[in-house]
Formats: sequence, structure tokens, C-alpha cells
Amino acid sequence: GKNGVPVAENFRLEQSTIADTVQTGQVRVKTLYLSVDPYMRCRMNEDTGSDYLQPWQLSEVADGGGVGVVEESKHENLAKGDFVTSFTWPWQAVAILDGSVLQKLVPQLVNGRLSYFLGAAGITGLTALLGVREKGHVAVGANQTMVVSGAAGACGSLAGQIGRLEGCSRVVGIAGTDEKCSILVQEMGFDAAINYKKGNVEEQLRELCPGGVDVYFDNVGGVISDTVISQMNQNSHIILCGQISQYNKDVPYPPPLPPDIEKVQKERNITRERFLVLNYMEKHEASILQLCQWIQEGKLKVRETMVEGLANIGAAFQSMMSGGNIGKQIVLVSK
Ligand code: NAP
Repeated sequence: GKNGVPVAENFRLEQSTIADTVQTGQVRVKTLYLSVDPYMRCRMNEDTGSDYLQPWQLSEVADGGGVGVVEESKHENLAKGDFVTSFTWPWQAVAILDGSVLQKLVPQLVNGRLSYFLGAAGITGLTALLGVREKGHVAVGANQTMVVSGAAGACGSLAGQIGRLEGCSRVVGIAGTDEKCSILVQEMGFDAAINYKKGNVEEQLRELCPGGVDVYFDNVGGVISDTVISQMNQNSHIILCGQISQYNKDVPYPPPLPPDIEKVQKERNITRERFLVLNYMEKHEASILQLCQWIQEGKLKVRETMVEGLANIGAAFQSMMSGGNIGKQIVLVSK
């Protein structure tokens, strides 16, 4: 429900029996990896706040992004042994699915790391890449400074690296622990990172972005974003990716800015358009290939936080919502 903090106990694991026969057009799949994501919090409300998200129903099987292997097929384009993915994968160890909802995967594209199709080479990577390209107005040689909030998370860690690859001259992350900040700088090539739970964010930001902020990849909203927006330059751009700090609250999406911050946004002509990765389906295939190429070339560093066992998926979701992950939060269901 609204205004609640999600906990592992919101989920339960049940044993059940699936049909013995696979019908024409269907496949039986074994689940390998499941993704847990912030948007799932919105699916825990009767009204998700978005047309494209359906609420999870009480006592029904939850679903989300998943990757698995076909064990039996009666679908013309899928064969036993194929690796497949879907955005609506049921949280089950084994399932019978319509072949039409599955996309076939090419493991070589990600050096065999199939879970990457849920993260850096999946919706998460697409969100980072298309967010930067569609809303960031990043240009080579323009000497832009980018700030990323939720920077050590799945989208954020990629967004900062992509901002640099696309031309930003300075990239600063904001994240919730010293360990995350050190990974951003040491491993992922951010110029600097701020632990927002320690010290004064406003002062550190001013010091680390002496020329102001030109591009802000916003994953979190709330006070952190207000602080960043106050230091944004004239004609700069917010990539409104997500507002995780507001997801446990009963507020509309995107949440309105406080009046003084909205005034700054308007006076400085800062763009803040809603961004939704699903609005760019026609660009997904080429963008996935770009992401895979960067991964293979070592230009995009990928982190995952892997939790083992379907029984632990609720705990993995709780942990991710409270900052327990570095990079993409994945649940390993079967090897
Ligand atoms: P994620 O960043 O890997 O995980 C969530 C992270 O958010 C946590 O690790 C935590 O890190 C941070 N966080 C949690 N509560 C916070 C708070 N109150 N204030 C500040 N930070 C908080 O998740 P993700 O999958 O990459 O998603 C990031 C954002 O992108 C979400 O808002 C999501 O809804 C959005 N998204 C948008 C689209 C789109 O199409 N627009 C698509 C996918 C995802 P810390 O330790 O740093 O607090």
C-alpha cells in the first residue's frame, strides 16, 4: 500500500505444481536470473501511478525481468537449450510461458554473462544510454559537467560512464556509502563522488563542480535533487530518470519541485522532461548492440549484487530499496 516501506515479509514462497504438458505455442523454461527494480515498489500499490505498470495482485505470483533457458518447446522459433528473456517473467523456478512473450538471447554478446541482459545489456543499460542521449544534450567538446544521483546503483553507475563516453568532461556521483563512492572513482572513472549520508552535499558539490552543473541524471529526487538543481547552469538539462526517494510516499509522478527550486528551474531555463525508456522501443536493438560493444571493449565497467535463491527475492528487493546493492541487484535462481 501507499506510504509503506517494503520488507521481505511482503513476499512468500509457495510450492506448487505446474501443468505436465506444454501446449502448442508454449515453452517450459527454467529460470536462471530474476531482476528486482525500484519500479516494483509502484506495483505494490493498487494504483501504480503509470498506465504502463499493472499492480501486483495479492497472493498472485509476482513478475518482472527474467532470464532463463528453454527446457521444452512447442513454439516454432524456440528450441530446447535456447536462452530467453522477458519483462514479465513470473517469479517461479520453472514456468510454462507463451513463446511469443520471450526474446531469444545471444550469450556471446555479453561474454556469456547472461545476467547482464537484465542490467547493463538490458533495460537498465538502455535507460542510462537513452536517458543521456535523448534528454542530456551531451556534446563532445562542450566541456560539460554531469552529476548523477543514485550513482552507484544499476542505472546510475552506467549513466556516469556513458556521460563520459558521450563527451562530458567532468562526472560527479552522489551515493550512500564511502565504499560506493570509492568504487565510482577507482573503478568506474567518475572524477569524484559524494557520500550524501555524510557531510554537507551542497558545499561538496560546489567544490567539485566549480563551473556549475550542465547535466543532471536524476535517479532519486527529493532533497538531493533540490541541492543539485540549485547549482545548475543556465540552459542546462535534467534527465528525469527516477525519483526513488519518493516511491514510498503517496505523491504524484514526477513529484513537483518545491516552489523555490521550481523558480530556479524556470529562471535558468533548465529542462526537466519526463523520460521513459519504453518510449524509445525503436532504438532498443541498436542501443543494446552499442552497450554490448562497450562491455566487450572494457569501456563500460559493470557491477552486480547477486543474491542466491528464489526464497531470498523479497529480501533482495528490500535491500535494494534501502541501498544494499552496488550496481544491478540480481537474484540467481538456478545455475
Ligand atoms: P538502483 O539505483 O540500483 O537501486 C536503488 C538505489 O537507490 C539504492 O541502491 C540506493 O542507493 C538509492 N536510494 C534508495 N533510497 C534512496 C533515497 N531515499 N535517497 C537517495 N537514494 C536512495 O536502482 P535502478 O534500477 O538503477 O533505478 C534507479 C532509478 O531509475 C529509479 O528511480 C528507477 O525508478 C529509475 N528507472 C527509470 C526508468 C525509466 O525509464 N525512466 C527505467 C529504469 C529505472 P544509495 O546507497 O546511494 O542510497
